[in-house]
Amino acid sequence: MKRFVCACGSPMFFENSYCLACDRPVGFDPGSLELLSLEISGGGRYRAVGGSPEQAFAHCRNRVEHDVCNWLVPAEAEQDYCVSCRLNAVIPALESGKNRLLWARLEAAKRRMIFDLLRLGLPLQQPDSAMLSFRFLEDQRHNPNVSESFVVTGHMGGSITINVAEADDSVRHAVREDMQERYRTLLGHFRHESAHFYFHPMVAGDDEALQEFRGLFGDEREDYDTAMERFYAIKDTRITWQGRYVSAYASSHPWEDWAETWAHYLHIRDTLETAVAWGVVPTPDTARDSDQWLDTWMDLSVILNELNRSMGTDDPYPFVLSQLVADKLSFVHRRVVPTPADAVASATH
Ligand SMILES: [Zn+2]
Ligand SMILES: [Zn+2]
Ligand SMILES: [Zn+2]
Repeated sequence: MKRFVCACGSPMFFENSYCLACDRPVGFDPGSLELLSLEISGGGRYRAVGGSPEQAFAHCRNRVEHDVCNWLVPAEAEQDYCVSCRLNAVIPALESGKNRLLWARLEAAKRRMIFDLLRLGLPLQQPDSAMLSFRFLEDQRHNPNVSESFVVTGHMGGSITINVAEADDSVRHAVREDMQERYRTLLGHFRHESAHFYFHPMVAGDDEALQEFRGLFGDEREDYDTAMERFYAIKDTRITWQGRYVSAYASSHPWEDWAETWAHYLHIRDTLETAVAWGVVPTPDTARDSDQWLDTWMDLSVILNELNRSMGTDDPYPFVLSQLVADKLSFVHRRVVPTPADAVASATH
């Protein structure tokens, strides 16, 4: 994450709606990817302190009505929801205060993932396919008043479904223990599911990339349901994943290996950017054919874990990256960073 500073000189954080030092309203502009200190310009409109007087903004409707968003919309836009909130297809029922809290957590994690995508210049809509969209659903295991008996977090044709209960820390922790997972977060869910949306344009739609993918991740034509049944039936297979996969779940099917690896790539890119912004590590080389960022990450992840142990908290990155996993991460990196030829083409169109 980038480092943001208020017009008063105090640090601001991506999630802030107000500057904690000077109490100015602040909002994130997805157009410039900047968190802006705001001043009122009349009619419920704002402009950035020190910014162009012509450029007016409004708060996203989900901030005005529910206080669950801190992103801005251009004042002249027809949409009153921000770039992130307008992707919502289904939000939780808001008659309970708890659901509003869970929804706010879901939106905060989602915005950080959308920021990843915008930062990397990835489209939120693929040519000839649906727009990325989100459904936040409850099931009867956690709310007997809803019709769905079992909601599975997943992706289908651009639509990402997240079980609202995953935003409840106690529920998510219990699932994590039950599944013997090392890491389970809302942000991880969003990053993982976004991978499925990009698999076709980035891998399956490019013959050369697909051949390289199969060499690293395996053959994605393997029957998915059979693979999942095998994964969930034989718990012992989970101890054989280390060295070849970034997580146990990645070993279930090549699609899930891609999604887990992609999620780790976004974890690493975001955390590295934060560390660079705060002067913890020097800027690594992220050119298409360089893996220096991965070496910097290996060093940083040790520091990150040690810092957390000093506070008595769990390792935030309890993973060891083998050479094969590093090769898979490198593959994701080369799919995300355009080739020089692509960059020239997009600059001239
Ligand atoms: Zn301030
Ligand atoms: Zn919004
Ligand atoms: Zn998946």
